[in-house]
Amino acid sequence: MREDGRTIVCYIGIGSNREDPVLNCLKSIELISALEHVKISRKSSLYRTEPVGVQNQAWFINCVLEIETSQKASTLLSMLQNIESAMGRTREERWGPRIIDLDILFYGQEIIREENLSIPHPELHTRRFVLVPMNEIASYVIHPSFGISMKGLLNRLKDTSAVDLIRRREQ
Ligand code: ATP
Ligand code: MG
Ligand code: MG
Repeated sequence: MREDGRTIVCYIGIGSNREDPVLNCLKSIELISALEHVKISRKSSLYRTEPVGVQNQAWFINCVLEIETSQKASTLLSMLQNIESAMGRTREERWGPRIIDLDILFYGQEIIREENLSIPHPELHTRRFVLVPMNEIASYVIHPSFGISMKGLLNRLKDTSAVDLIRRREQ
């Protein structure tokens, strides 16, 4: 728990491209909703996205969650890694196929640069598969390092990889 007990608004990026990626994303959302002192406040739609980086692999399903939490960022990372492991993720090739990937995109407006934890996520502003779902639920959020909103980052984005809406959000 945070020492000041404050609740922080965070964004989590979810991705899967193995076995049943839609089911994997939905399962991870269920597991996140059961975490202590974590409340999901918004969910983006699910998107089918073209792989970026390592090309010759299956397309991904991606979405983004807004949560409110009083957990520390480091604790939240451990909790998300526990969910990845529980769902059968093993340490595999970076950017390669995976059952589930849970990344912390933002933790309030905090900037954290530690060996095992970089927040804001260092690649989020270069990735269409993150900026499209972020814009769906929180286009006004400002990137604390650049001082630019999600809307502004999407407008400036060079990544042209496909991001197709497949399932509308429920709320
Ligand atoms: P990318 O970070 O480019 O999206 P990836 O998600 O495939 O790649 P992983 O294999 O899931 O990378 O994680 C590698 C390491 O990244 C983890 O061990 C974790 O400590 C570290 N990491 C650093 N910052 C973050 C963050 N904001 N969210 C999740 N993991 C992070
Ligand atoms: Mg990732
Ligand atoms: Mg990751």
